[in-house]
Amino acid sequence: MSNECYLGRRDFLMKTVGAVGTSVGASQLMARPDETNERAIEEAVEKVGKIARHKWPVSGRKISVLLGCADWPDEVILAGMRCGVNYWHKAQYWDKEKRPKVLAAILKNREAHYCQVVVDRVRGNHETGAIDEEEHYQHVKERLEATGLRYFDDMIFHFGYHTVEEYKTNRAFIRAFERLKKEKVVRRLALSQHNYNGNAKVPGGQSAAEILTALMPDGLYEHAQFFYSYGDSEAINTLVDQAKRKGFGTIGMKTSRGASRMKQDEEFMKRLPAGISPHHALARWLTTETKLDGAVIALRGLDQFVDTYSGAGKPIRASDKAVLDHLRIFANREVCSLCNECQPHCPQNVPIGEILRYERYALDYGEVDTAQALYAHLDRRATDCNNCGQCLGHCPQGMRIPEKLSRAHGVLG
Ligand code: SF4
Ligand code: SF4
Repeated sequence: MSNECYLGRRDFLMKTVGAVGTSVGASQLMARPDETNERAIEEAVEKVGKIARHKWPVSGRKISVLLGCADWPDEVILAGMRCGVNYWHKAQYWDKEKRPKVLAAILKNREAHYCQVVVDRVRGNHETGAIDEEEHYQHVKERLEATGLRYFDDMIFHFGYHTVEEYKTNRAFIRAFERLKKEKVVRRLALSQHNYNGNAKVPGGQSAAEILTALMPDGLYEHAQFFYSYGDSEAINTLVDQAKRKGFGTIGMKTSRGASRMKQDEEFMKRLPAGISPHHALARWLTTETKLDGAVIALRGLDQFVDTYSGAGKPIRASDKAVLDHLRIFANREVCSLCNECQPHCPQNVPIGEILRYERYALDYGEVDTAQALYAHLDRRATDCNNCGQCLGHCPQGMRIPEKLSRAHGVLG
């Protein structure tokens, strides 16, 4: 979702409702804030229209082709609901005290919405933390109390397993789910799977594709979220094909792959066909040209919601394809796809993918402070790169990794 709610571990830094850049017409300048909000929401709903839904495998749930994120500002969530968005990524971060409007709207018709609870490892981070039945169980109960949602539809193992072996031998997360399911407070099990291949902190770590391929046939997990974007690797596309055949649900996250930083590059934007934005083209492509069951696109504010979601479920046009070609060229040069292929070849154990993930937070989601804080916690940083060049040649995008790390350090350091 993160994400792709763009906050991830930054979720606690919730946006305030008034801070979004919604377009407000001159006639609204004298309106009270609530009226202004309502008009802006209605304008957005009118522009986006009804978003198509897709029937998910196994559960048969009909879910909007683009999902919603709990960290959107209130007015974007309310507009999303009116347009038919009915799946809420990271809903556990809502809080009765802080998001009363959103929770009231969901609880008005609780069964019409699908709400996730995302659960992290404990006593450490996603690389070093443990899977602990009791703590996961208690976490879900605590978030149920805080949100008042009565139940969560999907319980998500955040970041997922490190290896196939861990999945096969450590059933603590699944046991926590089964206890909660018996109490009727969670319904389905899913995971958000990251890549651990080559990760120095995770000996023997495997890729998302390897882990999901092994876990899919067991039928314990209904679906998985994983990094997916234009220009993705053969392995990920094979995984999606396989999931389709086996009836395993797939959600693409981190889908925009630098589209926000591209929008800030005036020269780049001048090269795109007139009137088509990167996010709009991306939404059309993700929802009609891929085999995913759903996708998350990072966004902030009603303007971005209109721009992006107005493309959801609509056929891709030649001009959208031209935009995507430009995005791909830019992204292959500048934006790491977090595949971790380079990682095993770095004798300095520089966490290349991790650093470039934080760079995304800063450059694409505007979360500079949080990205810098995460970077500060790493025990190896970009400055540990000694320019040996051993990673070069292993990046499927042909990125100049040492230079890229140095620029990332300029943003994060
Ligand atoms: S150039 Fe830097 S990042 Fe690449 S392998 Fe060498 S030390 Fe690691
Ligand atoms: S730098 Fe290249 S090889 Fe390394 S994670 Fe990013 S895209 Fe993959």
